[in-house]
Amino acid sequence: MRHATIELLQAAYGRYALGAFNVSSMEQVHGLFRGAAQARAPIIVQFTRVMRNYAHPRMLEALLRGAEEIYPAVVFAVHHDHGDEASCAEAMASGHYNSVMIDASHQPFAENVATTRRVVEQAHARGLAVEAELGLLQGIEDEMSVDAQEAILTDPAQAEEFVRRTGCDSLAVAIGTSHGAYKFSGQQGLHFDRLAEIQTRLPGFPLVLHGGSAVPVREVERINAAGGQLDPSACGVAESELPRAIASGITKVNIGTDGRLIWTRVHREFFQQSPREFDFMQPGKTYVEEFAAFVAAKCATLGAVGKAAGAASPVAAEVKSD
Ligand SMILES: [Zn+2]
Repeated sequence: MRHATIELLQAAYGRYALGAFNVSSMEQVHGLFRGAAQARAPIIVQFTRVMRNYAHPRMLEALLRGAEEIYPAVVFAVHHDHGDEASCAEAMASGHYNSVMIDASHQPFAENVATTRRVVEQAHARGLAVEAELGLLQGIEDEMSVDAQEAILTDPAQAEEFVRRTGCDSLAVAIGTSHGAYKFSGQQGLHFDRLAEIQTRLPGFPLVLHGGSAVPVREVERINAAGGQLDPSACGVAESELPRAIASGITKVNIGTDGRLIWTRVHREFFQQSPREFDFMQPGKTYVEEFAAFVAAKCATLGAVGKAAGAASPVAAEVKSD
């Protein structure tokens, strides 16, 4: 059942976080919904512009309609991840999304405010929620000066002003994570002091952690043992840090890289061990099972197991019947 993103966020705030999974294939959609059903956890399904271009928006929407029928108990919202103004407008007009993210974080502050405000006005007129971003999501290096590190992180006073002026419903904050497999160097982790300051300025306001994949060492080792050449120093967000982040206002954790690493490991190992095989359905079945187990385990780490029952009421009006 589809739900309003904002209602899922409000139900979760301070208690657990919603796993927001980037998926772009039939196997990933099956795995995601199967894992969410096992965990009885509410989830957010995310499509980026790149994924929409890869699969075609209509194909992704059709996959979700299928998943909704096959896994009727799953509580989910559909979110357009990292949109620009044009893709947000298109996603909202399609009637298939419960929320959009406008990412204007690369623009100067005043322009980010103006761009985000325009999207918020369009979204709220349709009853949809908007996630915005302030700060730069890039890896912090050990050798960077303290000033350089500080400049990347979200400024708490700016965050408060940004939310007030834009009316956005949730905010992606830069507290040390980046996208991809190489998030941290050395002993870097989440900047909890910064996160606490943001929460103090924005009490009760849902904050979003991008680049939330763990990038487990064991996955990277298995990929490389099966012929991959990933940098063995790749690392992500330690799962042990997530409960503290949730208590500090992180309500949605975006996860894309980990699902891709599992895909790569399953397929590399399968074809290495069975070099005479060429049927993609065998490793595909394994991937669905492994991705489902990963989703269920991640929902447990986020404290979301069993929370589907308490989630807000479903929405149907936003979904066109075409
Ligand atoms: Zn992101």
